[in-house]
Amino acid sequence: MDLAANLATIQAKIRAAAERAGRDPAEVTLVAVTKGQPPEVVAAAAALGLRIFGENRVQEAKAKIPLCPSSLRWHMIGHLQTNKCRDAVELFEMIHSVDSLRLALELNKRAEQAARRMPILIEVNVSGESTKFGYKPEVLLRELKEINALPRLEIQGLMTMAPWTPEPEKVRPVFKKLRELKSECEQLLGAPLPHLSMGMSNDFEVAIEEGATIVRIGTALFGPRAVSKPAGTQASTD
Ligand SMILES: *Cc1c(COP(=O)(O)O)cnc(C)c1O
Repeated sequence: MDLAANLATIQAKIRAAAERAGRDPAEVTLVAVTKGQPPEVVAAAAALGLRIFGENRVQEAKAKIPLCPSSLRWHMIGHLQTNKCRDAVELFEMIHSVDSLRLALELNKRAEQAARRMPILIEVNVSGESTKFGYKPEVLLRELKEINALPRLEIQGLMTMAPWTPEPEKVRPVFKKLRELKSECEQLLGAPLPHLSMGMSNDFEVAIEEGATIVRIGTALFGPRAVSKPAGTQASTD
């Protein structure tokens, strides 16, 4: 695995995709997804200038982050259980995966206890796949104002995971729909939402063409993940 070469390739593709869409490449933030990767890999990525890292399990992040360079910023990108919210507000600068009012209420409470504001994205299940987490669009539109009223949470935009496909062009409608849903949310709230977190290793170029401001990339940077759970994590419930 040549991390420097992978990063250069990804950055070139981000630039090209942004330019194809008439966008400034600086509008697109790369979150390096290090789930299943050890602290040494995080340190190597940090040495190449990467600063924002994504994890999808609180338990793994809690074990790993103290072993990584301290200047890094961590984003929670995976499904979050309410019993992990207290740790999540300590560990992460942003949570991409708020997918219910119940979770938002618990995060708000824990952020209050930690005396901080928590930037969040709301995860939407655009494709309607039953295996995916995320709000149904129509439920989000019903509950958005209630989430927005929570004083410790700061809604910064929407997040989605597209279905896996060998032909990324096929999931373009998913990204387009998330962008349109963001506009609807902005109208409801009467305020702009800066972020669309969409696009992974397989489909980030199409996502950028459709307006992604955050792409979450793991395997294209670091290679395949080990299948089993890494040492230092529990085989449990987050
Ligand atoms: C694992 C993961 C990613 C990165 O996936 P790759 O295909 O390895 O780039 C992005 N987003 C979420 C929510 C993930 O769980």
